[in-house]
Amino acid sequence: MTDCIFCKIARKKIPAEVITESEDLVVFKDNQPNAPIHYLIVPKKHYESFSDVSDDILIKMKEMMLTLAKEKELKAFRIVANWGDYQAVKHLHIHFTSGFKKEDY
Ligand code: 5GP
Ligand code: ZN
Repeated sequence: MTDCIFCKIARKKIPAEVITESEDLVVFKDNQPNAPIHYLIVPKKHYESFSDVSDDILIKMKEMMLTLAKEKELKAFRIVANWGDYQAVKHLHIHFTSGFKKEDY
């Protein structure tokens, strides 16, 4: 999608603080974080929402959450995914947050 901000980030057309990436996913910092750790887990391919993503990508997103928790040595994380009118950016993403308490690290 040419006009989509997360497609542009995935293709490195606009900058973002990328944490990690895989063949199918890119993880970058939310630029308006609401937690000390606030990452967005984003498929590189454009899917508008859960309504049109395949199960194999969802499994990869789950695996990415667990990899992030392990690599960042987190004891806790919280995920949020918006859909419909709650979703501002119409490119599927999961908010991955942590660090609300110092014991999280
Ligand atoms: P949602 O679509 O789930 O409501 O939220 C979209 C999220 O994307 C917001 O938390 C917002 O701060 C983040 N966001 C929007 N545009 C950009 C951007 O250009 N770069 C980054 N890093 N985050 C963005
Ligand atoms: Zn997109």
